[in-house]
Amino acid sequence: MPRVVDVALALPLFQTFSYLPPEGSGEVAPGTRVVVPFRNRREVGIALGMRDAPDDERSWKRVVSTPDAEPAVGPAMLATAQWMASHYVTPIGVVLRAMLPVQLTAAAAPSPAGKQQRVVILARALDSLMERDALFKRSPRQRVVFEHLEANGNRATVAALKERLGVGDALLRTMVERGLVRIGHEGVLRDPFASRPAEAVAAHKPTDEQQAAITRIAAAAPGEVVLLHGVTGSGKTLVYLEVLRRVLAEPGASAIVLVPEIALTPQTVARFRAWFGDQVAVLHSALSDGERLDAWRVLQRGERRIAVGARSAIFAPLQQVRVIVVDEEHEASYKQADAPRYHARDVAMVRARREGAVVVLGSATPSLESWHHAQEGRHTLLALPNRVGGGALPSVSVVDLRRPRSPSDATPPGERLPAPPQEPIERDPFRRVVSRALEDALRERLARQEQSILLLNRRGYASFQQCASCGDVAACPNCSISLTLHRAPERLACHYCGHHEPVHLACHRCREATVRHRGLGTQQVERLLGERLPEARIARMDLDTTSGKWAHADILDRVGRGEVDILLGTQMIAKGLDFPGVTLVGVIDADVGINLPDFRAGERTFQLLAQVAGRAGRSVKPGHVIVQTRMPDHHAVACAVTHDYHAFVARELADRQSPAYPPMVRLANIVVSGVDEAAVAQSAQEAASWLLRLVENRQLTGLRLIGPAPSPIARIKSRYRWHLLLKSPDGKLLTNVLRFFAERFAVPDRHELRVSIDRDPVTLL
Ligand code: ADP
Ligand code: ZN
Repeated sequence: MPRVVDVALALPLFQTFSYLPPEGSGEVAPGTRVVVPFRNRREVGIALGMRDAPDDERSWKRVVSTPDAEPAVGPAMLATAQWMASHYVTPIGVVLRAMLPVQLTAAAAPSPAGKQQRVVILARALDSLMERDALFKRSPRQRVVFEHLEANGNRATVAALKERLGVGDALLRTMVERGLVRIGHEGVLRDPFASRPAEAVAAHKPTDEQQAAITRIAAAAPGEVVLLHGVTGSGKTLVYLEVLRRVLAEPGASAIVLVPEIALTPQTVARFRAWFGDQVAVLHSALSDGERLDAWRVLQRGERRIAVGARSAIFAPLQQVRVIVVDEEHEASYKQADAPRYHARDVAMVRARREGAVVVLGSATPSLESWHHAQEGRHTLLALPNRVGGGALPSVSVVDLRRPRSPSDATPPGERLPAPPQEPIERDPFRRVVSRALEDALRERLARQEQSILLLNRRGYASFQQCASCGDVAACPNCSISLTLHRAPERLACHYCGHHEPVHLACHRCREATVRHRGLGTQQVERLLGERLPEARIARMDLDTTSGKWAHADILDRVGRGEVDILLGTQMIAKGLDFPGVTLVGVIDADVGINLPDFRAGERTFQLLAQVAGRAGRSVKPGHVIVQTRMPDHHAVACAVTHDYHAFVARELADRQSPAYPPMVRLANIVVSGVDEAAVAQSAQEAASWLLRLVENRQLTGLRLIGPAPSPIARIKSRYRWHLLLKSPDGKLLTNVLRFFAERFAVPDRHELRVSIDRDPVTLL
């Protein structure tokens, strides 16, 4: 009997393909990349394993070549891939493709060489200031470059200099000719953070609380999951650092650190770099494909043993992984929106079991899933209930926007006046946005030269444009979403598909010139603040101000240097920032998002409010938080105001019993989409009937089907969307049914109909 190798190809097919091993070789190790003939093309696949094939089955084609000496996917990762394929109902080839740098699975180049880069290296030292002044008298630009290099370890890539300083080749040539610098070529890992100064961190001595956590994590069993519930400012980062230090002390051992988004967490990343320097590879989303491949190779060779990155860093090709840290484990960005729709936290737990690693899930506001698991004893719960240095959590007051505002409109928690039925019309546009209490607090901070953070989780200028005569709201032609008004550049923009159009003064429907701008966005708050507090230095941070590679870090650097009085932004400013000068946090409108038709709306709101509140008073100066809301009694707002995570989860878990939602039940969202509304609706009905028949025929009592119904956002990018929910207390049953459905349910081949399965969805919108 011939031996054949089963190969996964990155095709949307639940099927693998078998080939004879390459000429003259026997076995092909699982995880090895193979080049195979497929439909008159050559494809790169991953070997899954070998088996005996019956002689007479057919004539097998042969693997053309195996480009690498080593398997690209190690045994633990391959097992993790198998789990992902099954759990997320995604072909194994698609999963493996997501795990590997794009070049390794692209058909064209089976074995790309690591890209070379040009680096500028300082060629001489200049100790005398007079000599320096003389040398650069006529060439201040050269001086900037020279001093930039001095400040950055005497070297920088040409690309980084061009990007950071706008330096051209001619200038560098002149500097080479003058013997100031030389240019070399390196195939080294290009790390965009390397050109940024690493934050110097004093090696703090852990507090007793921190030490207890460090000791317990060090003693954790392989595969154990530790939930580190530490309030904001409790010093979770130091716990991670100490744990990682122990890992590095063991020869060959390695670790992975997941952060929600590298660009948003420059401080955290800087602390890892400052501690571990060359041992860290930062997997930044701004890396080019070539840079990503470099980083991957460096990790695979074990030249760096700590991988820090967002979601996909969970696939870092490290060996002997001992610890996987998931910082801010509650963050929705750990879930991937496209296939494979994996949740990096859950993949981390699976990979850790295969590797014999320990998982540390850190958060001040753990997800309900992780909390529930800890309560059931599946995770080990470790708490850091106090801020470092005995600092208190900030005091919080609520401004109830429902009642008339008076000078004393901020009340301590618990003391709220009942809302009168009528809201008086406020003529002052600033006052409609910023209450007197918040304005006074901002002015106090300005006078004391302290910093403030203002949160409004809605970008743009106004949230929509409506005609006062006919009520028509300007909507996106492709999505069932109203258009947001933006200034600079002035236009109406869709936040889902990117469509934008000029602002029109006359209503599209009734032609009256009565369009009004309604609702509030960060751009408008910025303008109002600038008019009212002209002396304040204001920085705005939202998706519109952070398109450049360094935009986030540059804004945050300015805040860190004390060049900003008020940092205004969307949820971007709520995460992980640690600025001792910030003593005030204001929430302009706590209710944004609270009423979305999504079972996680309350959880998201609580997390956002608790996290942003946690930015205040993190050092010696006490912090204060002012929350403006029309829903002060909603438990997401009320519990955030009292810093009461436990009350929040108790209430929220109870709410998810009936109707049942995760973590009380396992959930999958099946979305049918296409360009024709009727066809989508019909196909969704057919899918539902198909599943109901299956449930009846097989008597699958543990399974519940909800829907079908139009998705809350019924159209995105010109595609109509319907969805149905499958719920079961039995995860295995859910997996089997979804797999059966994915393989057997025939999607009609018309109107671009598509069915997607989102297992463990983080949003149902
Ligand atoms: P969080 O738990 O919110 O992530 P951080 O890890 O950012 O908190 O720590 C909050 C602040 O406390 C940081 O500025 C950090 O440098 C400081 N810190 C942490 N541990 C200690 C310690 N043992 N002694 C003194 N300062 C500490
Ligand atoms: Zn759109």
